[in-house]
Amino acid sequence: MKPIVLKFGGTSVAGSTEIGQVASIVEPYTNSLPVVVVSAAAGVTDALLEAVEKASLGYAQEAVEIFDAQIRRYLAIVEELVASKKQPLLSGQIVNQIESKALSARSSLLDTKMLLKYPKKMTDEVVSLGDMLSAIVVAEVFKAYGIAARSVDARHCIITNDCFTAAEPILTETLPATEKRLKPLLLKGLVPVLAGFVGSTLLGTTTTLGRGGSDYTASLVGEALDAREVQIWTDVSGIKSADPRLVPDAQTVPLMTYEEAATLARFGAKVLHPKSVAPAHRHSIPLTVRNSFEPEGRFTTLVKKDKKVGCVKAVSLQKDFQQDSLIAVVGERISENRVVKERLEELLAGELFYYLQETGAAFIGLVVKKDRAVTLLRRIEKELCRESNQICFSRDFLQGSSSFKKLA
Ligand code: ADP
Ligand code: ASP
Ligand code: MG
Repeated sequence: MKPIVLKFGGTSVAGSTEIGQVASIVEPYTNSLPVVVVSAAAGVTDALLEAVEKASLGYAQEAVEIFDAQIRRYLAIVEELVASKKQPLLSGQIVNQIESKALSARSSLLDTKMLLKYPKKMTDEVVSLGDMLSAIVVAEVFKAYGIAARSVDARHCIITNDCFTAAEPILTETLPATEKRLKPLLLKGLVPVLAGFVGSTLLGTTTTLGRGGSDYTASLVGEALDAREVQIWTDVSGIKSADPRLVPDAQTVPLMTYEEAATLARFGAKVLHPKSVAPAHRHSIPLTVRNSFEPEGRFTTLVKKDKKVGCVKAVSLQKDFQQDSLIAVVGERISENRVVKERLEELLAGELFYYLQETGAAFIGLVVKKDRAVTLLRRIEKELCRESNQICFSRDFLQGSSSFKKLA
């Protein structure tokens, strides 16, 4: 049997109730070789980065206060576990582990000289802590729920270059190292739990993969173990036709190609890390995006080929430019669909500044005024992404054809 990788993001491991819910999701997989990857609890990485910033500016006391508050969050989860009488025996050991890891990160935080000399390297020493503490605590909660779990130090698996804060895994090292660490545990019937986002250089110095990088870890672990599926559990029911924070009634996209999902992520959709699709794609491992707060709800599966070609699956918005925003309209071979382009011109009449496209690409980029961007995004999502409005073409017809045929 091939293993299965389940990754849980920040909101899914935000507190003891949420981690209990994670345990109930993992429990049915215990005889199916699950490997669990976890992120820092929601808000912890942001806070640790803020602590580093304060420390770099010389505000040591404020930095320590912010840092300690994060450690207290993890200790509180352990305390709740003990109070619920679920795991009274191991709590002392776990508190020691949390405190010793925190002590070493705290000393990096307060080493101002090193912080100024090697800011990125020292940042990684501190911000890696959140995801690593999650792995320790989640493994412990699993034990309390009767799951034979073992926390694994992700730094022994994900071996990277030394591009601190945005390190790139060295595949020839990472894949065998991950397999070597995890396979023996799986063979013993244990559930490995490891931190996402974190790695180490060949010399053993801690690195991180960039914000949102736990998805990338999960996919790399899937590649290393030739997993049968990589499940990304988050706080929304799959990849939606637009960011639900901007378009509350956006719909779950049931099927997307790896290329479409990677393109959407590249254009800013936070739901997946942009690099996380490639490892699954290389091995055609199904990657699904699911909601840990609604485990039986709708979800997205990434596949190599979908029969829907040339239509708009989803839209994303990037507002990082001075006065303009970029709306990316995503769908396989979308730039070849003249009908979609005409509709876009109608929908954005007089409001479209530039049109970015590449032949054969899975996106069309639309540059619009920043203060109109959300309204226009909503309009495009409603008129082109909804199942009944999609303008799709059959793959067979596209091949070698100069014109398009609308699917029935
Ligand atoms: P996690 O901590 O689980 O990794 P993230 O916050 O990184 O979660 O990603 C999930 C968030 O991505 C959602 O809460 C949602 O606001 C945002 N998001 C942006 N674009 C999309 C989209 N197209 N579909 C679903 N979620 C999206
Ligand atoms: N904890 C890291 C972050 O907040 C990684 C992740 O959540 O994927 O960026
Ligand atoms: Mg994320």
